[in-house]
Formats: sequence, C-alpha cells, structure tokens
Amino acid sequence: MAGPRELTEAALAACRVQGFHPAGVCAADPPESLRQFKDWLDKGCHGTMSYLERSLPLRADPQTVLPGARSVIMVGLNYNQPNPVVPGRPRIAKYALGRDYHKVVRAKLRRVANTLMPLLPGATFRVCVDSAPLLEREYANRAGLGWFGKNTCLIDSRTGSFFVLGALITTAELAPTPRASGGCGTCRLCVDACPTGAIVKEDGRWQVDSPRCISYLTIEHKGPIEGDTRRIGDWTFGCDVCQDVCPFNQQRSSQPGRARTTVEPDFLATRIWPSLREIAELAQPEWDRLTQGSPVRRAGLEGLRRNALINLENEESAHGDPAPDGGAERPEPGL
Ligand code: SF4
Ligand code: SF4
Repeated sequence: MAGPRELTEAALAACRVQGFHPAGVCAADPPESLRQFKDWLDKGCHGTMSYLERSLPLRADPQTVLPGARSVIMVGLNYNQPNPVVPGRPRIAKYALGRDYHKVVRAKLRRVANTLMPLLPGATFRVCVDSAPLLEREYANRAGLGWFGKNTCLIDSRTGSFFVLGALITTAELAPTPRASGGCGTCRLCVDACPTGAIVKEDGRWQVDSPRCISYLTIEHKGPIEGDTRRIGDWTFGCDVCQDVCPFNQQRSSQPGRARTTVEPDFLATRIWPSLREIAELAQPEWDRLTQGSPVRRAGLEGLRRNALINLENEESAHGDPAPDGGAERPEPGL
C-alpha cells in the first residue's frame, strides 16, 4: 500500500480532477477553535441559528462524525462570477446564483473517495458539506486552504475567498499539507464597507455579528426584520459586499490567478429570476418551481417575499418616487 505522502498526492490529484482548488489535508485531531466558537455563541452572535448551539458538543471531535477518523481532505470550489446589479430584479449573492453547492460538492467528493478506495483497502470515508458537526473552516485553515480575514472569510492568498468548502474524512492516514498563513495587515476595507457595521472586533478578534449581517437577515432570520431596513439596500438573498471589496478578490492582469471566474457549470447564473414585484406576490407553486435545486430556497417563500418588499421600498426611496402600482403590502413595518 502507498505511504501517507503518496496517498496525499493521490488525494490532491483526485481533487484537481474534480475542479477543487484550493485543496489540502490535515489530521483529524480535535478542533482548536471550539472555545472561540463557544464564545461567539455565548454572545448571541449566531442570532436565531440555534442548531449551532445544539451541535456544539458534537463538534468537539471528528470521531463523532466518523469513528476512527485520522485525516481530513479539505477542498474549495470556486463560485466567483460577474453579478451585475439590475434595477427591479433580485440581487442574489454569487454563491447562490447556480445550483445548490451542497449537492455539487458532495457529488464531487464522492468521486474523490471512489478514486482513493482502491488505494486504501479497509479505509472508510465520510463526505461532509455543512451536513456534519465539523468546524470545517478550522480544518480548511489547517490543511492550508486559507487564512481568516477580518470579514471572517477564509482567504486563499492566490485566489481570494469566493469558494465553498467541503470535507472528506477518512480513517486512512494521509500526510498533512502545510497550514495556511497570511493576513489582512492594516487593510480594513471590508469593515468600513459593511452596510450594517456587522464586522466587529471583540476580545481582540474580528467577528461577524449575525443579527446585524445582511446575509443572516435575508436568509436565516424568520419573521419581520427589526430596525433600519434601508441598510439592506438591494440585497434580496445574501450579501457579497465584504468579499467584493477585498483586495484578494480583485482580478488583476498582473495576478491572473486571482479571483478567476468559476468554470463550474452548475454554479453559473442560468436561472431567470422574476422581478422584485413578482417575487413580492409569488405563490407557493411558482416558488417551488423557481427555487428547485437553488440555495435561495433556504430563505423560504415568506422570507424572500419580505426581502423583495424591503428592496422595493429602498429602491423607491432612493429614486424619491412612489411605486407605480403601489406594490404589494409589507408583512410588518421593518426594523
Ligand atoms: S455579508 Fe454583508 S452585511 Fe454581512 S458582514 Fe459582510 S458586508 Fe456586512
Ligand atoms: S478587505 Fe482587507 S481587511 Fe477585509 S478581509 Fe480583505 S484584506 Fe482583510
């Protein structure tokens, strides 16, 4: 049987075949950042995402995810693409423009596992894409995929932060790849650009305060959004501001590797979205058809209708004129 180093090379080659970049390997040791994660939860920064609290004890050890786990193969899949603003249309974060990444990454990781199985008789594998209680971002950092920016995104100095993560845990022993290092330095573009001031420094660490974050409010938060909804602007599902402004996500001719546009066909924006007015009045059957296989389904019909109404109101106040047809009614006065 091949040794740990050869197995790592075989794993990384299989990841490249599936289009994963960056990719790396780390030991399936217990996470080092559990205490920080617990502090973040204790401060209520997770908003109403109570499932994060419930899964905390399980996150203490990858053995709860796969008994006998020895290595974690971590992968990133680029979803970067142009996302022009079109007045009157929903503005959706780049990661959600195409097919649900969970399905895409899971299928690819299964193919990586199938490639490795003949080399690893007796080894078992488990694919995790947000589906298991694993602190994936820490393992991605340990495996060398990137370092944490002030916006809390994992940043690969070569390609930026527009990639989703997946993990393949195995009982086989693979050689770890070097841990990622790097940092923001004095840059604070994302902190200053965040429309809601959600990027905050607490106890010397940069964090995102979810209840203030547009991504959280437009996707995870249920019911009316309290406070000043003008800051949500034209975002209908998610928000890319703190990534769009990041220097590591800029395309530069002198650094052609940076922030490339994805070549993953499943991630491209092929779906035609109705106008904000149509979304605000969308019925269930149309919603079901429209969001099939899309990450946008996570917001729920009521959530997306709520967001569209906020966008319309913000669009109207930006132009200083009333809605031509009065629009649909908002469920509750906002924030
Ligand atoms: S996603 Fe948007 S609202 Fe959330 S921290 Fe980033 S810039 Fe701020
Ligand atoms: S915008 Fe600047 S401060 Fe924010 S994550 Fe990128 S490099 Fe770091």
